[in-house]
Amino acid sequence: MKDYSKVFKMIFWVLTTISAVLLIGGIFSLFFSGVYDSMPKDDQIGLRIIAIVLPIIILIVSLIGYLIYRDAKKLSMNAWMWLLIAIYAPNGIGIIIYLIVRFSEKKKKKCGKCGYPITNDYLTCPKCGYTLKNSCSKCGNAIEPDWQVCPHCKNALK
Ligand SMILES: [Zn+2]
Ligand SMILES: [Zn+2]
Repeated sequence: MKDYSKVFKMIFWVLTTISAVLLIGGIFSLFFSGVYDSMPKDDQIGLRIIAIVLPIIILIVSLIGYLIYRDAKKLSMNAWMWLLIAIYAPNGIGIIIYLIVRFSEKKKKKCGKCGYPITNDYLTCPKCGYTLKNSCSKCGNAIEPDWQVCPHCKNALK
C-alpha cells in the first residue's frame, strides 16, 4: 500500500503541475501575444470574468481536495489516490464516488488507535498492537469486559 501511495502522489503532482503551467501559460500568452487586444469587446469582457472566477474555482477545488485528503487519511484510506480521483475525474464524479466509498468504509469496524480494519473476534490490532478485547483465560476467545461467563467454553469469568 505504501508504494502505491507514492505513485498516486507523484501522478497527482505531475498533473497539477501540467495544469498550472498550461493555465498560467495560456493566460499570459493570450495577453502578451496581442490576441487579447484584437478580440471583440464582448470576448474581452468574457475573458475578464473568467480571470476573476477561475481563482475562486481553483480555491474551492483546493479546499475540497484538502478536506478529502485529511478525511481519507483519518479513515486509513489511500489519501493520494482519492485526492487524484476526486480532483481529476470529470464533472465532480470522483467526489461522489469518494463519498460513497467513504461511508461504506466508515461502517467497517476499525482499530480505535490506528484505524486499521478489524473484525469482531480480534483481541489485538494486527497493525499497532492496541488491545481491542480481553481474552478468556481458559479458551483464549475474545470476551467483552462485562461478560460473566465465557460463551465459548462456559468458563466463569468473574
Ligand atoms: Zn491499531
Ligand atoms: Zn472461554
